[in-house]
Amino acid sequence: MSELSGAVVVGAGPNGLAAAVTLARAGVPVTVFEAAETIGGGTRTTEVVEPGVLHDVCSAIHPMALATEFFRRFEIERRMEFVIPEASYANPLDGAAGDGGATGLGRDRAAVAYRDLDRTAAELGRDGAAYARFYRPLLRRLDGVVDFALGGSMLRWPGDLLATITTGLRTLEQGTPLWNARFSGAAAPALISGVAAHSIGRMPNLATSGVGVVLGALGHAAGWPVPVGGSRAITDALAADLLAHGGRIETGRAIEDIRELGSRRAVLFDTSARGLARIAAPVLPRRYLRALTRFRYGNGATKVDFVLDGPIPWRDDRVSAAPTVHVGGSRAETAAAERAVARGEHPSRPYVLLAQTDRFDPARNPAGVNAVWSYTHVPSGSSVDVSESVIAQIERFAPGFRDRIRAVRVTTAAELANYNRNYHGGDFSAGAVSLRQLLVRPTVSPDPWRTPAAGVYLCSSSSPPGPGVHGLSGWYAARSALRHEFGLPEPDLGL
Ligand SMILES: Cc1cc2nc3c(=O)[nH]c(=O)nc-3n(C[C@H](O)[C@H](O)[C@H](O)COP(=O)(O)OP(=O)(O)OC[C@H]3O[C@@H](n4cnc5c(N)ncnc54)[C@H](O)[C@@H]3O)c2cc1C
Repeated sequence: MSELSGAVVVGAGPNGLAAAVTLARAGVPVTVFEAAETIGGGTRTTEVVEPGVLHDVCSAIHPMALATEFFRRFEIERRMEFVIPEASYANPLDGAAGDGGATGLGRDRAAVAYRDLDRTAAELGRDGAAYARFYRPLLRRLDGVVDFALGGSMLRWPGDLLATITTGLRTLEQGTPLWNARFSGAAAPALISGVAAHSIGRMPNLATSGVGVVLGALGHAAGWPVPVGGSRAITDALAADLLAHGGRIETGRAIEDIRELGSRRAVLFDTSARGLARIAAPVLPRRYLRALTRFRYGNGATKVDFVLDGPIPWRDDRVSAAPTVHVGGSRAETAAAERAVARGEHPSRPYVLLAQTDRFDPARNPAGVNAVWSYTHVPSGSSVDVSESVIAQIERFAPGFRDRIRAVRVTTAAELANYNRNYHGGDFSAGAVSLRQLLVRPTVSPDPWRTPAAGVYLCSSSSPPGPGVHGLSGWYAARSALRHEFGLPEPDLGL
């Protein structure tokens, strides 16, 4: 196959690299062009705050790394090391006014989601049994649940109808004002909302609820693994495989117009839908371009990264057992914070997503020093420094936290948008995650990765299954390109 008959991937995020690996393994010559000086997109790890201390720049939490079909086939766990903690995530509580003093656990306790559902339930007090009844049917049919949520276009007949119904019913329950119906305390609902709020949006709503149901189930199954060395280890594993199969990567090369790429049989865009519209406008039909302009972007995130002299002194020490901590208090408080962001405000008590991953991967950073990664949701394009409200929120559940801070670095939503051109206004989902945009991502099609222009594909998280480090959008797009442009079957991805 000549170079001209090969493929180009624009963007070296996890989806772009997954697409490139899939194409290269099928024997297609592939070149990846990346605008930044380093590859990885949302999976980079570097010295963000202080020399010698590693932080994940974007993604840090990887519920999907061991669970999705692409990474399973890629046998990622044989290519790099993961630590799988007993606890997946935790949600500190204080029995404050927002809880009605009714955490169900007593004051100042946390709700902890262990991989072991029974242990989780046992520590959840009076709502433990109801919590276990919520997740157990999902765990029994977990492959079907994952397939429903991440198995491709939402416009397809589900592989496991019972799993789909089970997921759908729970999503409906937690996505409507009836979300507290099965619980009497605040701890179990807080645990579920803390996961749901990974997706930015007013709560309760069906899109955030679906995210909570699926990620929560994964937390009680394979767990939420921590990549040793940070997220960039995932990038490195993908890039190593690509290079080993003849692929090329060119960094520092931003593609502004598809015509720069000459004639290639396939071009796959790991760009946002807006980026695709801009770069490929000369070849895309007007109707499709109009559809792309209707694709909406959501609110953003502002990161607040810390270097601490020692670990976070959580009031409830069990929080230290979880690499991921949802710091937002009760469900009511998290929902209030998310509503404020939806109104265009910066909440005084924000929902903070925090990762203390180096506690589980101590070789990452020098002894006695801890890196803490966190972000909070903010209105699109915000350039407000929210570090004070984030610090106050963590301090609330970890008195003494402030005294351990050695250095802080704030990256506002506006700065994130500059860092990665896919994150419009700091929306790292490359398109709002709403019910509509789970179905229409970015257009309605049984093959949403394939555009109407010959050989042009979208492979980023602006396409299904949406945001997150799973490589699936890239894999699905590459499979479609292999079938339609090269007449090739999908390759084996294993070692
Ligand atoms: C602060 C933050 C925290 C996050 N936390 C998590 C988390 O904990 N867990 C999780 O699973 N996900 C998380 N995410 C989301 C996750 O990083 C993304 O969903 C994921 O990286 C999307 O992968 P992608 O390949 O589609 O795009 P990206 O990773 O965004 O990569 C796209 C790449 O394309 C390049 N590019 C764009 N346009 C061009 C062009 N015209 N020419 C050349 N190159 C171009 C960009 O520079 C970039 O490198 C987070 C994101 C952020 C920002």
